[in-house]
Amino acid sequence: MQRVYLDNNATTIVDPRVKEAMDIYFCQQYGNPNSLHEFGTEVHPAMRVALDRLYAGIGASDEDDVIVTSCATESNNTVLKAIYWEVITKTPKKRILTTPVEHPSVSHVCEFLQTKGAEIVELPLNTDGIVDTSTLEAYLEPEKTALVSIMWANNETGLIFPIKELATYARSHGVLFHTDAVQAIGKVAVNVQEAPVDYLSFSAHKFHGPKGVGGLYIRKGAPFVPLLHGGEHMGGKRSGTINVAGMVGMGLAMELANEALFYEEKEVRRLRDKLEDALLAIPDTMVIGKRELRVPNTILASFRGIEGEALIWDLNRYGIAASTGSACASESLEPNPVMVAIGLDRELAHTAVRLSLSRFTTEEEIDYTIEVLTASVKRLREISSTYVKNKE
Ligand code: PLP
Repeated sequence: MQRVYLDNNATTIVDPRVKEAMDIYFCQQYGNPNSLHEFGTEVHPAMRVALDRLYAGIGASDEDDVIVTSCATESNNTVLKAIYWEVITKTPKKRILTTPVEHPSVSHVCEFLQTKGAEIVELPLNTDGIVDTSTLEAYLEPEKTALVSIMWANNETGLIFPIKELATYARSHGVLFHTDAVQAIGKVAVNVQEAPVDYLSFSAHKFHGPKGVGGLYIRKGAPFVPLLHGGEHMGGKRSGTINVAGMVGMGLAMELANEALFYEEKEVRRLRDKLEDALLAIPDTMVIGKRELRVPNTILASFRGIEGEALIWDLNRYGIAASTGSACASESLEPNPVMVAIGLDRELAHTAVRLSLSRFTTEEEIDYTIEVLTASVKRLREISSTYVKNKE
């Protein structure tokens, strides 16, 4: 049976070139980079190359920090808790402005910090499902706000937030800005000189790098306190023996992802649009978010009358991997929270299915998916007790 992987917002295949570059750091050059002997020091050049690639990949300047973490969840936790310790507990600025559609590695940390005295304010989304600058202007009270934390692109809808404008506005009012760029890197250009953020989180496994390694950009002078203490790794900003293979893999994956941006924009978008057009030809189907506002690889679709889970299981029988939304929430039978946040009724929100492509997705895979999905929706609707054709 054909197998088609359309869950690239959950994780991606490791680019074979990345795997190859990592290989020697397991059984040949496996020394601890902190050791003084040659086993330790021989890995230093590759680590430097990896860091250079990460800095270049996001446009960081040499004066800024880019630290290697274990994942974006750690990066997001690090920023929010640093702001809590360095700003919220020490100054009158108690507020974090965020959105209702952040990944749990931001939203759950905010909920936790609220129990410790932080004031969390969720900015309302506009009718396009994003936060625009006028909303930030209306809500931002600089004397009360410790941090604005807004994702670059949403993991479920693929909607892109105007980070350049939002961060510029926050900066012009002296307010720190964090962005979770996990779903943006490798899909759209991400540059911290153009978008003046103070902190930016990313994760290698979302752009064809290995799992278990992520990164955090910290602009020079931005308040910081490490999440993990215990050593002097990463200039004292993140303790723990460095994952050399992961770091090398992430550096190369970042470079390759940026080289492939044009392909992503043209070819991945073309395949995504082909699939999307075919889905929209199925009656009573809708796709969330305007195409031009989304990253090129993502579709969040709703098929009226069909439970998202039922469709996922049916597609899985034919070897197609899709998702009902965030992989972290996939065991829950609650309606898709992003769809609820952007104002869809609960019934529609239950019908959400996310299809996310990558630069490894082929035309044949998309053609097969169109065929299987169209038949699957038809079949499931025939047995659905809730589907009434053209129901308003
Ligand atoms: N932020 C976003 C927007 C995500 O989509 C994810 C993963 O799905 C994360 C953060 C967490 O990334 P990691 O798996 O590296 O912890």
